[in-house]
Amino acid sequence: MAMMLMASMAWAQKERPTLDPKLTEEWEPVPPVVTPGDCGAPPSDAIILFDGKDLNEWISAKGGPAEWVVADGAMTVKPRTGSIKTKQKFGDIQLHIEWRTPAEVKGEGQGRGNSGIFLMERYELQVLDSYDNITYPNGQAGSIYKQSIPLVNACKKPGEWQTYDVIFMAPEFTEKGSLKSPARITVLQNGVLIQNNFMLRGPTEYNRIPKYEPHGKASISLQDHGNPVSYRNIWVREL
Ligand code: MG
Repeated sequence: MAMMLMASMAWAQKERPTLDPKLTEEWEPVPPVVTPGDCGAPPSDAIILFDGKDLNEWISAKGGPAEWVVADGAMTVKPRTGSIKTKQKFGDIQLHIEWRTPAEVKGEGQGRGNSGIFLMERYELQVLDSYDNITYPNGQAGSIYKQSIPLVNACKKPGEWQTYDVIFMAPEFTEKGSLKSPARITVLQNGVLIQNNFMLRGPTEYNRIPKYEPHGKASISLQDHGNPVSYRNIWVREL
């Protein structure tokens, strides 16, 4: 067996002659220089969606002004005012967002610190207090709701700030409206990989099988699920 392997390796080497190393150098394109921020702070080319001061970049998902509470550098869900969404619409993005579920633990399962980040107003990355809180894993924090269980539970305690760093690739559709390529998402929670290039089956559904419908760029929305979840330091880079 070892002899056969060595023989085939020798053959492979012969089929792949040594090249001038310059032939495998790529000099174009030169990546633009971007100055990174410290520890989740926005880099120089980011679009700032929330810097702790106001909701100027946001509106209510129902239309009209966003009514969530801004205080102490954070925005907090004001229950029953509804979800909010960005004024700007996006396709492929890198997103950084920090979130915190209430320090005072109330409720259980899906009722504890529930909110969510809807990419393109359709695809939910779940926000939930999943620290010592049992629920269906494809609905816990870091899940792509009802579609993908996170690789690990990287949650901090309730009341502590947590980060999501997201790479989201929008779905593509043909001119006739059929799906060309599904949406894909990679997520790091608190620096830990929890979703690795997951291909979404369609928009998030609570009680139906997901099904893609063609759409263009859309807002990022944050869910009012009736719990006072907070967010801060939200920025995106268009890809
Ligand atoms: Mg949710």
